[in-house]
Amino acid sequence: DGGEGGSAAGVFGYSNLFCSTCIVNTVHVFQSTQGPKPPRIIVWRNVISMSLLHAGAVYGLFVIPSLIYLFIFLYMGVTAGAHRLWSHRSYKATLPLRIFLGVANSMAFQNDIFEWARDHRVHHKYSETDADPHNAVRGFFFAHIGWLLVRKHPDVIEKGRKLELTDLLADKVVMFQRKYYKLSVLLMCFFVPSFVPWYLWGESLWVAYFVPTLLRYTLVLNAAWLVNSAAHMWGNRPYDTNINPRENKFVTFSAIGEGFHNYHHTFPYDYAASEFGSKLNFTTCFIDFMCFLGLAKDRKRVSHEMVQARVQRTGDGSHRSG
Ligand SMILES: [Zn+2]
Ligand SMILES: [Zn+2]
Repeated sequence: DGGEGGSAAGVFGYSNLFCSTCIVNTVHVFQSTQGPKPPRIIVWRNVISMSLLHAGAVYGLFVIPSLIYLFIFLYMGVTAGAHRLWSHRSYKATLPLRIFLGVANSMAFQNDIFEWARDHRVHHKYSETDADPHNAVRGFFFAHIGWLLVRKHPDVIEKGRKLELTDLLADKVVMFQRKYYKLSVLLMCFFVPSFVPWYLWGESLWVAYFVPTLLRYTLVLNAAWLVNSAAHMWGNRPYDTNINPRENKFVTFSAIGEGFHNYHHTFPYDYAASEFGSKLNFTTCFIDFMCFLGLAKDRKRVSHEMVQARVQRTGDGSHRSG
């Protein structure tokens, strides 16, 4: 009965690791295979140490992603904040939520909310022209990062000046963040992500600076830039085939819900920035949750009939419901 012997050896192995007094038990198991089965004797010391080991491993599994979740949460400062709230006014947010989004926005360090929203409004109004700050007609590199490496095209500045921005000027959170932007970026984008892992769980300052600070900042930047580059070049156009922005699944994933870009440019005032609501759209889930908590309200949405009519009229025929 090699099987029995094997299992006894297995138990023996664990006994060595966890409890030396249990060796007696395993020898007893091995010897009594001929007669009636011996009573099951639970080795509590091993049960407890194995439970602690696995609980610890599960905790370990959560510690690293929790840092990532935290940053995804703070990424809301751009997607739910600067984009859907301040650029498009697609829902209303209470003061506490606007303060949170303002602080989170400084962590993303993508220009202050006022400038971000102004650039973004010009981007929507003059897409794929010289007045579009990241005009994708000038190629992937320019739309992705190149636009930040050169001076703005004069048309961007000229058309930007003519935009209606009184709502932003009247928002105290936006103006406060603009006034103290440099300080808030230093604090939220660089100091906090480096200091917290070092102070709270003894991470080395070296790692804390390069991973949660620089790597996180760079990844989030590139995820946001993909909306301007990839989502303006690759994907279907089920809602309007006359414009460049496209439905790009990869960008939807990387920019947590901002890749339904053909839909978004067709219906920019829709708070979900997608026909499909919260599906694959963490930003929409976040706004919904804020409404549930009473911190946001008045979510604007496009009716199903209106979407269908538009799909029929200007879509490229690739539309699928759901
Ligand atoms: Zn766009
Ligand atoms: Zn937009």
